[in-house]
Amino acid sequence: MESSAGPRRLAVLGHPVGHSRSPAMQTAALEALGLAGEWSYEAIDVAPDGFGDLVLSLPAAGFAGANVTVPHKGAALAVADELSEVAREIGAANTLAFEDGVVHAYNTDAAGLLAALPESPRERRALVLGAGGAARAVVWALLREGAEVEVWNRTALRSRNLCDELGGAAVEDPDAAAYDLILNTTAVGLAGEDAFAELPLARGDLREGQVLVDLVYGDSPSTLLAAAAEAGAETVDGIEVLVQQGAESLRLWTGREPPIEAMREAARRG
Ligand code: NAP
Repeated sequence: MESSAGPRRLAVLGHPVGHSRSPAMQTAALEALGLAGEWSYEAIDVAPDGFGDLVLSLPAAGFAGANVTVPHKGAALAVADELSEVAREIGAANTLAFEDGVVHAYNTDAAGLLAALPESPRERRALVLGAGGAARAVVWALLREGAEVEVWNRTALRSRNLCDELGGAAVEDPDAAAYDLILNTTAVGLAGEDAFAELPLARGDLREGQVLVDLVYGDSPSTLLAAAAEAGAETVDGIEVLVQQGAESLRLWTGREPPIEAMREAARRG
């Protein structure tokens, strides 16, 4: 990707970023590919007011690219010279690549979500919980694959705005048992909140034949995922989504086939 010889640095840019599993996961991937001598991956904590200047300084410091996480995914789009169609349509970028003085922005969250699903969501009925940055990539990906998408958010105006922009239908009182796929893209669960108190779901709504995706991840399965598994639903956790989006980013930077199993193992180790 970069024409100059020498170390090729990569990073995840966030604020805060200390909790990110991307450095361990991407370092394991570079080692598995035999690229660890030449390439490296680190975490950089940067506040919003310093983000643009930092990004523009990275190529000269030997960086070939970066992942971008909360709260910079919108700013990453603004600082880029070239946007992929997916990043432009979603309105957020989680991956930057620097090539010959040009900053390229991509969004691999959408492809990552689809790769993490056990089967295509085509013609499946999906309930997306949340209308923040993560929800935008999820809604875009599901619609592109031909799912029927409904979006619930605590602040209803936000889900209505998201659907006006991307498609899908905003719902205020969904019957969760009726959906084939339920995707939690809210931050509920991050600080130990009770998902069944905060979200329009009851334990009895979860059943066999459903797929439950929870983007929030921690050291053990979320309350939501544990309840879904107990009810016989298939579950996909946030770490699997993280692994798959990271794999797509690695493919963009290195052009190599990502070593998924090594990435999964490192991400799960934390
Ligand atoms: P965001 O833009 O700040 O959006 C947060 C969302 O959570 C909003 O819809 C917000 O609703 C909702 N929310 C927060 N507290 C709530 C509560 N108590 N009850 C109901 N809804 C609540 O954040 P984001 O970037 O979309 O990220 C959301 C989550 O996804 C985070 O936990 C993040 O770690 C995770 N994530 C995981 C991956 C992965 O690869 N696994 C990727 C991206 C994000 P309001 O609009 O009403 O405030």
